[in-house]
Amino acid sequence: MTFQTAHILPGTLDDLAGEVSADESDESIPVDAPFTGERIGDVPACAPSDVTAAVARARTAQGEWSSWSVNRRADVLLRCHDLVLDRQDELLDVMGLESGKVRQDGYEEVLDVATNARYYATRAEELLRPRRRDGAIPLATKTIEYRKPVGVVGVIAPWNYPLTLAVSDAIPALLAGNAVVLKPAEETPFSALLVAKLLREAGLPADAFRVVTGRGDEVGPALIDAVDFVSFTGSTETGRTVAERAGENLVKCSLELGGKNPMVVLDDADVAAAVEGAIRGCFTNAGQLCLSFERLYVQDGVYDEFRRTFAERTRELSMAPSLDYDVEVGSLVSERQFEKVREHVADAVDEGATVVAGGNARPDVGPYFFEPTILTDVTEEMTLAREETFGPVVSLSGFSEEEEGIALANDSDRGLNASVWTTDTDRGWRIARGIDCGTVGINDPYHATWASVDAPMGGMKDSGIGRRHGREGMRKYTESQTVAEQRVASLAPPRRVPTKWYARAMSGVMRLYKRIEEAR
Ligand code: NAD
Repeated sequence: MTFQTAHILPGTLDDLAGEVSADESDESIPVDAPFTGERIGDVPACAPSDVTAAVARARTAQGEWSSWSVNRRADVLLRCHDLVLDRQDELLDVMGLESGKVRQDGYEEVLDVATNARYYATRAEELLRPRRRDGAIPLATKTIEYRKPVGVVGVIAPWNYPLTLAVSDAIPALLAGNAVVLKPAEETPFSALLVAKLLREAGLPADAFRVVTGRGDEVGPALIDAVDFVSFTGSTETGRTVAERAGENLVKCSLELGGKNPMVVLDDADVAAAVEGAIRGCFTNAGQLCLSFERLYVQDGVYDEFRRTFAERTRELSMAPSLDYDVEVGSLVSERQFEKVREHVADAVDEGATVVAGGNARPDVGPYFFEPTILTDVTEEMTLAREETFGPVVSLSGFSEEEEGIALANDSDRGLNASVWTTDTDRGWRIARGIDCGTVGINDPYHATWASVDAPMGGMKDSGIGRRHGREGMRKYTESQTVAEQRVASLAPPRRVPTKWYARAMSGVMRLYKRIEEAR
């Protein structure tokens, strides 16, 4: 490894790879540093039987872990919160090395994991507490809703946020009393293995969080077949196959999938602020963020000013292979991702799109670097008009009426994230409510919605099923159980009372009950 890192000792990555138990397979998967294309390590290519064994170990550990009180489990996650902050430099180096992201983008992941750990650890008791529910007949029926862990949760993660997506969805699952088996992306296994180590250091029983590495189409199906719930984050295409398999097994799943996210700038917007929002919203993590904007719609009154300023700011962005905080745009993750971005741009330009900024690969910077790119004159036939590019590329177009802006934003089979820019916040809230996306930021690209972990987050349309964050983000990992005790008299017709009389009496009770409810 020739890329120098300040915080990872030689041999650390090999030690992490050694933690994966792959007894049934001698194969391994190479892991490269996108900054240079060099090999930084290998991880085992687990066989399906290794996955089954990992889930069996997790299932055993879950028995003990779920017997701990919620507060004892919360203490572990609060210690993990501290460890992630204390050891952030190590985590940031590993993330940067294996994903090619710059440090400021990696730091968002550190914040996200700490935020989720704090939020769920401090709310778990309340979210999981047994709840008294209205009985069939007031006073005569005592009904309680309990929350039981589902058992073992399988988390399948992509490479773009290798720390966050390895652990942030696992945190509520663990707190609810489940064990977790994680399958990280082939490109980025080391961040997942490092955070697994931190969880153990925080006091989590060793087998309650296991990592299985390997190819998606081998390890993924084996994991879905063995677990009790699947938490999948990745592309819409893979999401469909995951849902199909989970459906066959009658195992519940949540799917956090791809987007084709719009940003709408109205003619009363603060243009300078909107430009900064577009810079963050389009080019964070070199555009490899599920919430990134790939479609920018700007109202005619400010279009020229926005286009000029946005292009100037885009050209100024610094791009380099660096693990320091001083660089703004990093590398694409792999040759596959690089080729996809290059092809989308080349196809659009061939079909008549105009390059306003960027547009070029930068092999002089690193093998998979691509300039932040703005295109105008993008039309329906172009691949990037509809498909997610997942790179630093955005199409920019104008519109005249507010309704047209909303219609353009909704003109997609995806519905993950959007944002609206205006100085009239009433207008902003009204337009936000008209956009069919799971999250919409007003005068903010994605930070406010993402970091509001008390509120649910996820995709409409083909962008997903289910939600992370908030109450939903934890309850999905539980089964509800209702226990009801009937006191005084049974609800069934009493013996020796003619059913006709019973029916008449019950109808009276029902009418009375309705009146009581209406008066409440
Ligand atoms: P991907 O779908 O190719 O892979 C995701 C994970 O699924 C990987 O771990 C992969 O190994 C595994 N996998 C592959 N085939 C599988 C199979 N047959 N069964 C089970 N698992 C399988 O996605 P990617 O390229 O790694 O990630 C990029 C995509 O993820 C983009 O579309 C992006 O928008 C999306 N994403 C969505 C969110 C969100 O929260 N909605 C967050 C991050 C990324």
